[in-house]
Amino acid sequence: MLTIALSKGRILDDTLPLLAAAGIVPTENPDKSRKLIIPTTQEDVRLLIVRATDVPTYVEHGAADLGVAGKDVLLEYGGQGLYEPLDLRIARCKLMTAGAVGAPEPKGRLRVATKFVNVAKRYYAEQGRQVDIIKLYGSMELAPLVGLADKIIDVVDTGNTLRANGLEAQELIAHISSRLIVNKASMKMQHARLQALIDTLREAVETHHPH
Ligand code: AMP
Repeated sequence: MLTIALSKGRILDDTLPLLAAAGIVPTENPDKSRKLIIPTTQEDVRLLIVRATDVPTYVEHGAADLGVAGKDVLLEYGGQGLYEPLDLRIARCKLMTAGAVGAPEPKGRLRVATKFVNVAKRYYAEQGRQVDIIKLYGSMELAPLVGLADKIIDVVDTGNTLRANGLEAQELIAHISSRLIVNKASMKMQHARLQALIDTLREAVETHHPH
């Protein structure tokens, strides 16, 4: 059995056409189903529906052989416990700092609100900048508006969400897209099968999302 972990929404919607190119089609619509384990037209391939931030955990521990995770999630997850053989070129966006339009740089320590705590620590450490990092789980845009933080770090696509809240994107931390990740033991034990799947997906990426 090959088990593929992925999250509902943007990643699922953009991954299904790539999996279809490899002959893997879910037997029920994962967006509508309440099931967390979804069989596919290939008897020995199944999908696990998990939270986006949990995908690397399932794959690193071998509960899934493969997964699809945003580079933002992988940067935050960290570690060397996963292979990342393929950029799927989907769910593209940018990881950026943002702050209130026209706000002056604070005099004291910068307060940064984000769900990407590890990314934030690394980013400001590289700059030798002392910051207080405030962990949030969502609606980061609110933090600078109510004085909880000076800046946020978040993923930005069109920038509409920032603009709607009087914020502007400032520094680029990383270009983001979703990546195929593979469990290290699975890659050894099922090498031929996984390599063939990766090669097929690579061709599908070239077709669906050419450079
Ligand atoms: P935007 O188009 O910049 O207004 O983004 C809309 C919302 O979706 C914002 O809250 C972003 O944080 C989020 N977002 C945009 N692109 C992605 C992505 N590729 N992955 C995850 N979240 C995203």
